[in-house]
Amino acid sequence: MPDISDTLDGATDPMIRLRGVTKHYDGSDAPAVAPLTMDIRRGEFICLVGPSGCGKTTTLRMINRLVEPTAGQIWIDGRDVTHSDADELRRHIGYVIQQVGLIPHMSIGQNVGLVPSMLGWDKKRISGRVDELLELVGLDPSVYRSRYPKQLSGGQQQRVGVARALAADPPVMLMDEPFGAIDPITRERLQAEFLQLQQRIRKTIVFVTHDIDEALRLGDRIAIFAEGSRLAQFDTPLEILTNPADDFVRSFIGEGAALRRLTLLRVGDLPPSVDTGDPVGLTVGADETVSAVLEKMLTAGAERVRVAGAATLTVRDMLLATALPVQAAAR
Ligand code: ADP
Ligand code: MG
Repeated sequence: MPDISDTLDGATDPMIRLRGVTKHYDGSDAPAVAPLTMDIRRGEFICLVGPSGCGKTTTLRMINRLVEPTAGQIWIDGRDVTHSDADELRRHIGYVIQQVGLIPHMSIGQNVGLVPSMLGWDKKRISGRVDELLELVGLDPSVYRSRYPKQLSGGQQQRVGVARALAADPPVMLMDEPFGAIDPITRERLQAEFLQLQQRIRKTIVFVTHDIDEALRLGDRIAIFAEGSRLAQFDTPLEILTNPADDFVRSFIGEGAALRRLTLLRVGDLPPSVDTGDPVGLTVGADETVSAVLEKMLTAGAERVRVAGAATLTVRDMLLATALPVQAAAR
């Protein structure tokens, strides 16, 4: 029995632990996934992001063993699942893909109830769960339960895909570019809804995207893959924007890191200025983001805001406190 008590990044008892997980396809020289080691904590929302072909999908599909690793070990919830029964494993891991994959001749209710019926739940329990899940993803069960997939929009189908993946209440959700084929406006709405949903369900989520903005928006931590599945950086959005690990990460983030940080930093975390006693027209919450507060200041023409229960901040304070470290900004 291998020792799993060691820790990599201080995460004890991770939900997902990958150790040297590798995929070599026959007939190709380069591995699709080079030995990959990472720990994912319980309830964490992790984004895997990187250019096309860098091994994101292969990595995700090794976690639920839709792809068998060539080498390495996978633990889920403290259990070595590298060689366990793959069908059994998949019943406890939700999986959402871009193509949704709803079964066309089955109603929405039957699609969502698929895994529970495979698990042998009785009809009453399944129908109760189906209605609960449709409500959870914002689809009125009395309207949608008996419809068929083709009668739904792309965004609605993707919501059904999420509901189906959640059906048996799996602790882990794997999502492969789930919003990739959806128009930008609907995609933003689905992202926001999904973040709210995650606040309630607290699943351990591994979410693949090639879109760094989507990753920065959703992930508690982001794993940035370079070509050949090299893990270039695995850290929080703020840390990645503040201290990109190398030139690859810097170029992958692209322009605008300093401005994007303002959507992540909260005013309560900035050092307050000396209170001059000048009148302050605007009060904001400590947990509001710097970008939201700047928006309010610009709208109101205010030079200074009071952070609720604390001292005041000027635009200049915010600029100085949120400036990127010189070294990180230097090219
Ligand atoms: P991503 O999801 O990041 O775009 P993939 O994981 O799909 O990347 O692919 C990683 C690499 O593995 C690519 O070079 C791809 O061509 C190769 N690959 C993926 N699936 C197979 C397969 N079934 N057989 C051979 N090579 C594959
Ligand atoms: Mg892919």
